[in-house]
Amino acid sequence: MTDQAEYIHQGRLNGSQRNKVKGLFDMLYTPKEFGEEIGINPDQVSRVYVPAGCPHTKDKQNHIFINGKEFKTWYEENYQKRILEKDQAYCVSCKQIVKMSNTERNQKGNLTYYSFSCPICGRKVIRFIDAKRKKDDQQKELETH
Ligand SMILES: [Zn+2]
Repeated sequence: MTDQAEYIHQGRLNGSQRNKVKGLFDMLYTPKEFGEEIGINPDQVSRVYVPAGCPHTKDKQNHIFINGKEFKTWYEENYQKRILEKDQAYCVSCKQIVKMSNTERNQKGNLTYYSFSCPICGRKVIRFIDAKRKKDDQQKELETH
């Protein structure tokens, strides 16, 4: 498992936070403003979303800024709920559901996940198996890369 996938997993938002993401503007937010907008700890920006691959910009002083609209797109691509068959996963590179093959089952801390190589692009795809999921997140989901 890539660490990036673990960061993506940590960055999951709850229902009301996701609704607030939808209301973000096409403008740059400081982590503090961003955290206040969606109701998260501002540190989550640099500790979770940036390492998870979230689009961001830095000024000369290395301050991080997040564009609200870009974040919304990125979040939806990485966390969108998808209904998948047992042997399917979603490849973010190919932007389509692919069949799992030569799948490895992995465990890292509380996280259980499958990993395999995408049959189309060959990149590593990860599908989380998450037993402790909040009610509004119960649909099968997956994240990758
Ligand atoms: Zn692929």
